[in-house]
Amino acid sequence: MAERVTLAQGAGGEMMDKLIKEKILKYFVKESNAEIPLSMLDDSAVIDDIVFSTDSHTVSPIIFPGGDLGSLAVAGTINDVSVMGAKPIALSAGFIVEEGLSAETFETIVKSMSIVANDAGVPIITGDTKVVEKGAIQEFMINTSGIGKRTPLLDKNIKIVKKYRSFNQRWLLDSNLKKGDKIILSGNIGEHGIALMSFREGYGFETEIKSDIAPINGLMEKVLSIGGIVAAKDPTRGGLANTVNEFSEKSNVGIILEEDNIPIPKGVRSACDMLGIDPLEIGNEGKVIIGVVKEKADDVLTEIKKHPLGKNAVIIGEATDKVEGVVLKTTVGGKRNLHKPIGDPVPRIC
Ligand code: MG
Repeated sequence: MAERVTLAQGAGGEMMDKLIKEKILKYFVKESNAEIPLSMLDDSAVIDDIVFSTDSHTVSPIIFPGGDLGSLAVAGTINDVSVMGAKPIALSAGFIVEEGLSAETFETIVKSMSIVANDAGVPIITGDTKVVEKGAIQEFMINTSGIGKRTPLLDKNIKIVKKYRSFNQRWLLDSNLKKGDKIILSGNIGEHGIALMSFREGYGFETEIKSDIAPINGLMEKVLSIGGIVAAKDPTRGGLANTVNEFSEKSNVGIILEEDNIPIPKGVRSACDMLGIDPLEIGNEGKVIIGVVKEKADDVLTEIKKHPLGKNAVIIGEATDKVEGVVLKTTVGGKRNLHKPIGDPVPRIC
């Protein structure tokens, strides 16, 4: 039987990695002279000092507690540019609309994009609109691309890293961690995925849990101004488990996390218990996980906590040569390996 693309191959876990490596990278990487090429599978690429990222958003439903397709599409791309250490400067918006969508809903979502883009100071400057016949897609999909540029803040940050250890990169990359670096999480995890899932399925948690959608470019500027940041990544699809495993794999270093330090709101915890899913595998849309030289970790943490998006920030662990991969430790002495999620426990959330 002919091989077909499956939903699991789009879920952001190991099956998707395989699809990308076997069916995409082999065609796209050859002619690139990018400084940070597609093959590094980082949050953005870099070419001629321009940071460039794209993301298609297929969330269902398109309006949900704490956000909508529009706010998600704008924040998601701003965040992927920001975690490279760059300043996002402009976005594109590509709309694919299913015939029959309420014009009011369409406008609500476009307006929501404009609000988030305005607040973040990143204008949408080019776009495209297509309408397809009923049934060709579900309701509405948006692709956003974003570009960003280098600022003196990033150079200053790197200078500070070099005071404490060797560092020969020009951007914040997943592959930059070294043993001793501390790992900081900017806040509560699990809210976006659980808000969407409970709203969609009618579990009744939706009154207390809202999506955390937010652009983190302002927060990234604050932490870069303190300095010592080596890596940053937004824990979206696949959640914290996927992000920290990407750090470990690409940096070729072990990571130990203190499980009890990871802030999981009560509502998320109980929803996960009930549904039998791991909160560490759930996507977030307004959080960042940062690798920082240990000497600057406390200063960076203090600065993050001053920011409205970072009130619950915490040091969750460190890079080490004492373990392989990612290991979770609990205060009572338990230990378990944390792997990349295989599929997606909560589909269609981004
Ligand atoms: Mg990302």
